[in-house]
Amino acid sequence: MNFPVPVVQLDQQTHILELFHGPTLAFKDVGARFMARVMAWLNRNENEKLTILVATSGDTGSAVANGFYNVPGIEVIILYPSGKVSKLQEKQLTTLGGNITALEIEGTFDDCQRLVKSAFLDAQLSEKYRLSSANSINIARLIPQSFYYIDAWKQMQAIEKGPVVFSVPSGNFGNLTAGLLAKGMGLPVERFIAANNKNNSVQDYLQTGVYRPKSTIATISNAMDVGDPSNFARMIDIYDNDVENMRRDISAYSYSDEQTKEAMLDVYQKAGYVIDPHGAVAYLGFKSWQKETGSNSRGIVLGTAHPAKFKDVVEETLKIDVELPKQLLEIAHKTKKSTILNSDFSIFHQYLMQRS
Ligand SMILES: *Cc1c(COP(=O)(O)O)cnc(C)c1O
Repeated sequence: MNFPVPVVQLDQQTHILELFHGPTLAFKDVGARFMARVMAWLNRNENEKLTILVATSGDTGSAVANGFYNVPGIEVIILYPSGKVSKLQEKQLTTLGGNITALEIEGTFDDCQRLVKSAFLDAQLSEKYRLSSANSINIARLIPQSFYYIDAWKQMQAIEKGPVVFSVPSGNFGNLTAGLLAKGMGLPVERFIAANNKNNSVQDYLQTGVYRPKSTIATISNAMDVGDPSNFARMIDIYDNDVENMRRDISAYSYSDEQTKEAMLDVYQKAGYVIDPHGAVAYLGFKSWQKETGSNSRGIVLGTAHPAKFKDVVEETLKIDVELPKQLLEIAHKTKKSTILNSDFSIFHQYLMQRS
């Protein structure tokens, strides 16, 4: 890994693990960079180029594109929904150039995903391209994420020995599943906290023992707006489909946008620390767990995004100006380069067939 992941203290018991110092300022860089390099290595003896198709609603596409940027023998085609990603996210997707191509689809994220899936099934396209995917259920993205749990635990023991709880702001539950893998490898984690916004299907499962996927609710911690998390299948497999087993390791809590903003303000006023909405949900999760159990164990809140990535809500909530870190300053003045396509598969097909 070529960026730091420091543990920063917020109060006596609470620490935050800053996972957002990578090129796209979100923790997804960790998994995406590792996966990109593993795929490049596996591809090293191939003569034919490998083409990765990725549909994205924002963050995943830029982490994947950055991971593969300038990797020899591999090109990436990103499909994103026109007008439905933030200005900065769009810059992150469209200004790399080189082996990265951005397609702006006139439709929704689901349209982008449908186009990618249809392309994989198309005989003519498979003839012309060696196609691959890089989506978030790829295990090569989870494995490297388990290492920062181990590193964070070590950082905590160096400060003071003792049990550690991890609070994970969760959407598709890849991050939390990576923690379970670390525990499976022997890391003595006292407890995992699944911190959610109002998209709380997993919390319901832990309460009732019945899993019911829900439709997605839009929130200010939007990278966690997932009603049917794709890694839930892995979690129930790890616990042999037994909710009692899962309850022994995982506690879940869910919060409103109002509560999230209050937590952002609370952290800022008490610790002088600017936390993004996703981290704030995880902070709340740890506080709820402390209250519920009366435990003195220290908690690590996973900081998944740099506050500048959610500049608008952070500035409005804390009444401060958030400075852009150098990763965003560098791209802010670059020119967007994308190709606009209709969401019809025949158009996408034609585009790919005509491309050299
Ligand atoms: C993707 C993302 C999450 C959710 O992570 P999962 O592994 O899908 O649970 C949380 N916070 C941020 C900032 C993200 O980008």
